[in-house]
Order: sequence, then C-alpha cells, then structure tokens
Amino acid sequence: AERRGSRVARASSRPSPARAPGIAATAKAATPLEALTRVWGYDAFRGEQAQIIDDIVAGRDTVVLMPTGGGKSLCYQIPSLVREGTGVVISPLIALMHDQVDALEQLGVRAAYLNSTQSIDERRAVEQRLLAGELDMLYLAPERLPVAQGLLDAAPIALFAIDEAHCVSQWGHDFRPDYLQLQVLGERWPDVPRVALTATATAETRAEMIERLGLHDARVYVSSFDRPNIQYRIAPKQDAKAQLLRIIRDEHPGAAGIVYCLSRKSVEGTAAWLQAQGIDALPYHAGLDARLRAANQQRFLREDGVVMVATIAFGMGIDKPDVRFVAHLDLPKSVEGYYQETGRAGRDGEPSTAWLAYGLQDVVQQRRMIADGEGDAQRKRNQTLHLDAMLALCETVECRRQQLLAYFGEQSTPCGNCDTCLTPPESYDGTVPAQKLLSTIVRLQRERRQAFGAGHLVDILVGADTERIRTQGHDRLATYGIGSDLPAAQWRGIVRQLLAQGLLKVQGEYGVIAITDASAAVLAGEREVRLRHEAKAPAKAQRRSESTLQLDDVQQSRFQSLRAWRAATAKEQAVPAYVVFNDKTLA
Ligand code: ADP
Ligand code: MG
Ligand code: ZN
Repeated sequence: AERRGSRVARASSRPSPARAPGIAATAKAATPLEALTRVWGYDAFRGEQAQIIDDIVAGRDTVVLMPTGGGKSLCYQIPSLVREGTGVVISPLIALMHDQVDALEQLGVRAAYLNSTQSIDERRAVEQRLLAGELDMLYLAPERLPVAQGLLDAAPIALFAIDEAHCVSQWGHDFRPDYLQLQVLGERWPDVPRVALTATATAETRAEMIERLGLHDARVYVSSFDRPNIQYRIAPKQDAKAQLLRIIRDEHPGAAGIVYCLSRKSVEGTAAWLQAQGIDALPYHAGLDARLRAANQQRFLREDGVVMVATIAFGMGIDKPDVRFVAHLDLPKSVEGYYQETGRAGRDGEPSTAWLAYGLQDVVQQRRMIADGEGDAQRKRNQTLHLDAMLALCETVECRRQQLLAYFGEQSTPCGNCDTCLTPPESYDGTVPAQKLLSTIVRLQRERRQAFGAGHLVDILVGADTERIRTQGHDRLATYGIGSDLPAAQWRGIVRQLLAQGLLKVQGEYGVIAITDASAAVLAGEREVRLRHEAKAPAKAQRRSESTLQLDDVQQSRFQSLRAWRAATAKEQAVPAYVVFNDKTLA
C-alpha cells in the first residue's frame, strides 16, 4: 500500500516563536532533534513527527491522525521540552498515567500527573511543582480540568495535548463525557497551542473531533494507517478456542499476544482453558479486582510470552512492542475498534497476526445488544451502520487490508499479506440458495405471520426433523427441505453473508431474520448474488447447488404446490408478487 503524505488543512493565524530553553532547566532542549537524541536516544524522527513537532513548537494548533504505535507521544513530549513552560497532556488513561510519568522521569524529564486517584496532599505537591516552574510535563485527567483551571492560569503552559482525542466523539466507541469540556482550552488559553491526537479517524469522527474541540484552524496531519507487518485473517468460527490454540502453537509459540472476548465470563473461561493447555494466559476485565488487574497488566508488560485474555477494557495506551498476535474470539462492534485493537500487534515492525473468528451467532447477538441497549433511534442506527461495515469486512472476497484502508479513506492495491490475498476465496453464484432462503422467510411471514431466528430457518431448509418443526407444523411448509442439498453449516454461512450484503436483517427483541427492500430484486430473479465458498463445504453439494436440483418425489410434489402458490400470489396485487424460484430450478 502506498503511503500518504501529510495533508495540511489550514495554517493557524497565530504562530508565536519558540523560546530557547533556560540553562537551569534539566530536560529542556534547544532543538527537537537534540531532545530526540539526548533524552530518548533515538536517531531520527519517524514519518511526519518532525513537521508536526516544528508546527507545535512554532505555536500552531495541530490534529494528528496516526495509527497505534505510530509514535504520537513524541509529537507533544518533545515540544514540551523545547517550548517555555509546562506541556499539559489530557489523557483518559488514568490507570496508565503513573507508568507514563515513571517512564518520563527515568529519561530525566520532570513529569507529574493529577487525577482523582490521588490524595489531596499528593495533588498539592504536584501543584507546588507546577507553580514553581519545575515541571516539563503534567498529565491531567479530563475530569480534573474544571478544578485545575485557576492553577493552570497561574503557570506558564507550553502546550495542551489532547491524547485519544476521539473520546470526544459521541458516536464513537470510546466516548468520555468529560472530553466535551475541552472546548474551554481554546477559549481560555487562545495563545497556547493545542494538539489533538488519535489513532481513530474515519472522516466522520475526524470532523466531529475538530468541531467539538474547536480546532478549525488547526493543521491536520494524516499518516498512512497501513501496518504492513500485520497479517489480517478472518475465519468462520467453528471451535474458536481450539482454532486459537492451533494458531498459538503453530505460529506463535511462547509469544506475547492479546485475545479479545466480548464478555467477562468468556474472558475468564478462555483464560482458564488456555492455562489448562499449558499457555501462560491471564484474564483482564473491568470486573476483576483492581489489584489483580494491575498485577496481570504488569506481568503482560514486563514478562515475555504472556497471553492476555481481555475485554476491550484492555489495551488503550498499552505500549508493548513485541505483541505477536491479536485474536478476536467475538465480532468487534466496529471497524474502528477492530483496527485499534489489532494495531496493538507488532509495534516493533516484526511479522504479526491479527486473527478474528466470527459466526452467525455473533451477528445475531450484536444486533440484539444494539436493540436492547441504551440510546435513541439515531444512536442505534449509527451502531448498526458500524456493525454492518464490520460484517462487510468479514465477508469480503477482496483484500482485507485494501478494504480496511478504504474505510479510513485510503486507496491501496491488494496487499499480499492477508488471508484473502494469500488464499483467494472462490465465489459462486448463490442466487438460487439465496432465493430459497428468502422465499422461506417470505412464506412464513405471509402465510403464517411468523418470523424466526437463523437456526430454525436453517432447520426448515435442510428438512431437519426436530420437535419444534413438528409442533409448528413446519414440515408441511412448501419450502421444508428444499435446501437439503447443502449442509446446515453452509446455510448458516449463507445467512451471514446475506446479512453482510444487506439482503437480510435481524429484527426485534428475539433477533428474528427478516428480508430487506433490497432482497425483492433477488426473489424476482433480477439480481445475482455472489457468495464466497467457505472452509470445507463438501464440493459435491456445492456443485449440485449450482446446477439442477436432484429432487425426490416428496420434494417434487412440494415444488408443484409451490408453483401453484406462485401462480396464486402473482395475481395478488396489493403486495409485490415474489417469485419463489427462478424457472431454471423448477424445470
Ligand atoms: P502511539 O501513541 O502513536 O500509539 P507511541 O507514542 O506509544 O505510539 O510510540 C510507539 C513506540 O514507538 C514507542 O515505543 C516509542 O518509543 C517508539 N518511537 C516513537 N517515535 C520513534 C522514533 N522517532 N524513533 C524510534 N522509536 C520511536
Ligand atoms: Mg498513544
Ligand atoms: Zn490483502
């Protein structure tokens, strides 16, 4: 994928010259490069760091969009050492402030933090150091800002850095109400440069961020979001834990990794199961005792080869360079979240794996969570759109990376380092199976005013002999058994793919499957459906699905009655007459 250069939006109207450092300051530096080499011991700036830093040193507002691991911290840390006064960093990561400040102090940077976990005495000591001009950097939790305003008025401020700035976005996945107050920074300290940084940056999040933080005059730096060393793979979920174990053993034995699960319960279950298989796995979720959580995080950071099994509560701001794999055992809620989480792999640039297992049940569960969740209709629509984009990524037959980058507005060519590039999925004409499925749903709805989840629909299609089928009388349905040419697993895959393509939707409290406006064209034989072949569906069954069906007598008679039904519905004028099968199949 090609790299994009910086995009300069609009220059600030108020550049103010940088001041050379005072002799007395310990860590203050004469130039950015001097700070980089002397304090951090690095040789050169990466990507656009140098330009961004020059802008901030010159007093301009900037917006920095850079992928996880891209090196955002130096963009505000170095200007804090070069400019007069203290660099104030707003960060939502209270749990990590202590570590961040520790790391800076080890480099000789005079740093401290203020957050709600401190005692009054601790806070007072930090305030004294700030007022005495003894701090190069101050990390501030956003909820402290209202009470700290008077304090900040009395101290020379070098800059304001707003880290994880996407937290101001109300529609995003990390919304923090306290971030909405950050508007005050530009109003109260118009001469202090502000820099907003994030690794989350679709066009809509970016626009919302700039709007809410009042950064219209800022220069916007957009780095390429590509992480070429990460191999993206998305696989149908069979036995997710066993699939994961195979990857750990075959590809990353003894390596550090992160395994994301949706629920606290599955975090604990998965961690315990991996431990039983001899993997050094630890659980992490917000419901664990704070001390245990901190201890597990420390072990993950400091020791080699620890596998952290976690909810998405884990990871923001975690800087561990040698994470070799990030696995998702459940479907992430959005592409943005997925990309941030997978971005925690391979910060050192070495080959790494991002692996996701997903199944139909995930889709249904996520839809239900949205339906049952808090928020108004607009919020739910928005969450649904995010989930749909994630589904489309899972079901794509194109290069995963290309589609991911396109989501972030970046054009690229097929990457050669994702599962679809390495083993291109075969696609087939799935119009007939789609019609069978859709017509089953339509018939249940129109003839019986019933709707069902995917499991029961598949049972009807393959002609399963279950108690539920019998008591509902679904074995007398005209479409009962018309999908017996394909195995149930393949039908579940078809349901998933049609959901991803917007030809089906999940509705209501019970997560029933319904047709969409777009599916009418498929039923009418006016639209072809391309489906991807999934792992190891029997080749024979697939061949049959594409040619004429082999029908036994019972099925034959069903098809006859189906024809009659079709002829009858064709005369109904109030509703569109759905064609149940195309003629080729019926012949
Ligand atoms: P981000 O906040 O964008 O996710 P960090 O600021 O945590 O990324 O940086 C990621 C890693 O890259 C850190 O270990 C950091 O020290 C390192 N790094 C950043 N810039 C450079 C550089 N110019 N040269 C070498 N290493 C760098
Ligand atoms: Mg960071
Ligand atoms: Zn690819």
